[in-house]
Amino acid sequence: MLIRLVYASRSTGTLTPVDVKDIVRSSQRNNAPVGVTGALLLANGIFLQCLEGDHLAVNALYHRILLDGRHRDPAILQFSEIDQRLYGGWSMGLVPMTEATRSLMLRYSPAVGFDPYAMRPRALDALFTELVAQARTLDA
Ligand code: FAD
Repeated sequence: MLIRLVYASRSTGTLTPVDVKDIVRSSQRNNAPVGVTGALLLANGIFLQCLEGDHLAVNALYHRILLDGRHRDPAILQFSEIDQRLYGGWSMGLVPMTEATRSLMLRYSPAVGFDPYAMRPRALDALFTELVAQARTLDA
């Protein structure tokens, strides 16, 4: 069964761009062989990650990520069966924090500033769908 899991967590320290790159690099290396795809955002010390793939593979990966001391306060915000992936081309894409990304976040977040904990599943779906469209425009 193909599923999408979206969760938020808070970074435990001040992560440098190199730390974040490390996370993305190991994610890409580990996710590709198990067919997990997705995207990762970090803003205001809050991670927002979308994981897509077989339900058992995503479940196992999520439980491994939970053990990581680089973040805390994990909360699953969305877990649903899906017909198709949004991030079929990304084993784990880091969404760059551009003005366009910030303005998208504000559009779908009830809070001023980025607070995914307060976002509803429908808003998260819309946010990730637009982030993919934005990335495709940038790639084109
Ligand atoms: P390596 O790739 O060998 O480790 C890479 C580097 O990270 C090393 O320098 C190591 O010292 C450092 N490192 C590893 N674990 C920790 C830790 N717990 N605390 C501090 N430094 C550490 N992993 C995935 O495979 N897929 C994902 O999608 C994914 N998403 C993540 C999202 C977030 C928000 C965070 C915080 C972590 C995520 N991780 C993800 C990383 C995951 O938690 C494990 O660290 C990783 O899977 C271990 O992979 P590895 O055994 O290949 O370690």
